[in-house]
Amino acid sequence: MYHKIETLNEKELKKYQLEQINKILSAVKHTPYYAGKLPEYIDSFDTFAKIPFLTKKDLRDAFPYGLLSCPKEKLVRISASSGMTGIPTLSYCSEYDLNEYTKNEMLHLSHTGLCKNDIIQCMMGFNLFTGGWGCYHGSIGLGATVIPSGPGNTQRQIELLKQLKARYCFSTPGYLQHLLGNISDKDWEQMNLKIAMTGGEPLTKEFQKLAKEKYDIEIYNFYGMTEFSTHIASECNLHNGLHINENYFYAEIVDPETGDILPDGEYGELILTNLKREAMPLIRYKTRDITRIIPDKCICGRTSRRIEPISHRLDDMLIINGVNIYPSQIEECIFKCFSSVTNYLIKINTKNAIKKLNIDIEIPDDIINNENKINKLKEKLIKTLKSYITITPALNFVPKHTLPEIQGKTKRVKYI
Ligand code: AMP
Ligand code: ZN
Repeated sequence: MYHKIETLNEKELKKYQLEQINKILSAVKHTPYYAGKLPEYIDSFDTFAKIPFLTKKDLRDAFPYGLLSCPKEKLVRISASSGMTGIPTLSYCSEYDLNEYTKNEMLHLSHTGLCKNDIIQCMMGFNLFTGGWGCYHGSIGLGATVIPSGPGNTQRQIELLKQLKARYCFSTPGYLQHLLGNISDKDWEQMNLKIAMTGGEPLTKEFQKLAKEKYDIEIYNFYGMTEFSTHIASECNLHNGLHINENYFYAEIVDPETGDILPDGEYGELILTNLKREAMPLIRYKTRDITRIIPDKCICGRTSRRIEPISHRLDDMLIINGVNIYPSQIEECIFKCFSSVTNYLIKINTKNAIKKLNIDIEIPDDIINNENKINKLKEKLIKTLKSYITITPALNFVPKHTLPEIQGKTKRVKYI
């Protein structure tokens, strides 16, 4: 069953979204940060496109309450993400917002078939970050049973999966890789894990494929961020792009340099606007995430627009002696060559102004003593990496459990 908003035609949707944008513009006219900066009414999306972007720096400049758009007494929660400068980015939430986030999460979670009889082990964080909360409220909203286990403590997660037999889990892709790499065949037989939702960092197609083939786990990609406190888009069961919940978000893709709007199908930076939010509506927020709107409609029957899975942020790019590389490209290559999941770390060092790319990879126990197999795997991986990223990194195969354990978001790159 689809939500009404997921099957509107383009004309109906645009009309609804323009009305919502105008409601938001009128609601924020007294918000300290926006006051005097925005029109109170727009008559078209072309006029909307003239409104200046909002950036992470603006959010920090507005710290702590500059973006508060409702009386403080209405707040029921404040979340934060830690910024590089030390000033966190806050996200305030009123009771109205919490209810709407819950409805939004219910819509996304229902894409995966989650319902009343299901148990979901939520291995995202329950802290200042918004990580696990959306899954928590949305799952309860659908009548499912949530186990809020949070990230880390892998042996305990495994025991819970064996004892309580959750069919669903939610985590970062990195933590799911770590978890799967630590489940023995014997443990596996006692589990019922079939569906995983991942978010918070890029999910590669190669890992999604490997999880299905080797573990029979179907992974759904969820995209969200602290600034919006909830998920923005998620996959349907066809896994060909992430459906945006257009009830809550208006999405644009722009050229990150010029800010010009790009047509559907072209890659650029995702810009998001809240269509329903009381405490902190964000208008034309620059996410720094690169994606594109998939031009055609999904054959699942939903008419909602889809974004391509986000493979990187503008800030993620590694430049190795003039060659641009994204960590997710390296993961694609690793999971193309390995037959089970593994942990890896990208290390970059600079000597005489020349950068060198090194990759430490944990090798599965079954081949650690087989030099011939290791050499073959190395050779295959080097060849694949060369064809993807055009440079040849130094590969260092290490035994399992040598690299730092993954908990929440994965720190895959280290400068040495
Ligand atoms: P945070 O504010 O810590 O929740 O981080 C939000 C950022 O995580 C987003 O702007 C994206 O860069 C990244 N992110 C979240 N979900 C995904 C996803 N499904 N795929 C790729 N990147 C993601
Ligand atoms: Zn679909």
